[in-house]
This record gives sequence, C-alpha cells and structure tokens, in this order.
Amino acid sequence: MKISVLPIGEIEENVLKTLQDRLIKVFSGSTCKILPNLAVPRESYNIVRRQYNSTLILHKILRFADSFGTFRSREYRALGVADVDLYAEGLNFVFGEAQCPGKAAVISLYRLRPEFYGAPKDEGLFLERAVKEAVHELGHTLGLRHCTNPLCVMHFSLHIGMTDRKQAEFCSSCKMNVRN
Ligand SMILES: [Zn+2]
Ligand SMILES: [Zn+2]
Repeated sequence: MKISVLPIGEIEENVLKTLQDRLIKVFSGSTCKILPNLAVPRESYNIVRRQYNSTLILHKILRFADSFGTFRSREYRALGVADVDLYAEGLNFVFGEAQCPGKAAVISLYRLRPEFYGAPKDEGLFLERAVKEAVHELGHTLGLRHCTNPLCVMHFSLHIGMTDRKQAEFCSSCKMNVRN
C-alpha cells in the first residue's frame, strides 16, 4: 500500500509521526507519507448533535485524494486524521469510518485521550489507541470485515475499553486476508 496520512484540521505532529512509523511496520512493504492538512469541512458539522458527519468527511477525503493523478493506482490509500467528534447515521459516535473495500478512511482522536474519560493524561496510551484505530480502518479499506477475536485489531470497538483490550495487529486469520 501507498498510504497518505491526511490531517483534517490541526493535528499534533507527534500523532502523525507515530502513525507513519507504526503503519509501515504493521503493513510491511508499504510506504506512508504525511500530506499538508485539509480544513475540517464545514458542511460536515451537525449543529444539533454538535458533532461532525464522518461519512461526509470520508467523501471529502476521497475527492481530495482523487485530485492527485497518481492516486488512481490501486495501492493508494488516504487516511484522514481528525480531532473533532465524529458520528455516522444511527450511531452516537464513531472512532472512525472507512470504505470497505476502498481507498479512503478517517479516524478521530477526539475520544482517544484518557482525559476525555476523566483519567489522567497518558500520551503513550493515547498514541497506541490512535495506531489501533488507524490500522483498523485501513484494514477495512483492504476489504477486512469485523473479526470475532476480541484481541484482533479488526474487532469492533463499541467503547474505548474494547480498543484498549485489542492489539494493534491483525490476528492470524485476518492477516491471511490482508493483501497490501
Ligand atoms: Zn470497523
Ligand atoms: Zn482478526
């Protein structure tokens, strides 16, 4: 895969660098670059919910990525990283969303900081959660569905405890289905 990390709004450098370092390890043989940031699409904000529609952002990412000619090649992926609270129709919130399979994915950092849950700041834990969500959504772009193994990165996280429980890696069965 040729992964492009696309910051949506202002995103901490440390998060972007960590994602870059870790993604090329999990998806061996892949490359990962960080693109200049894209403004948070104003039309994705839902004034009643005070949250941002992840599906609209996903489409924006895809359109933006498609504007680069080279992006048409099969192996390209764009991973949007936002720091606003995301929702999808029918769900209270989402940690991320992706095309399955497809080329675009988005994750939100908003609910990944321990402080969000009233816990003390823990940069290591925060970054680990971001890596897990990024690997999970990129896994979807490769066509992987949710996995029943609670330790597998493709297991669905209903809440942050489930994200913390799983690893940042694919289980052996998901690994077999990953084609970079
Ligand atoms: Zn998922
Ligand atoms: Zn699995």
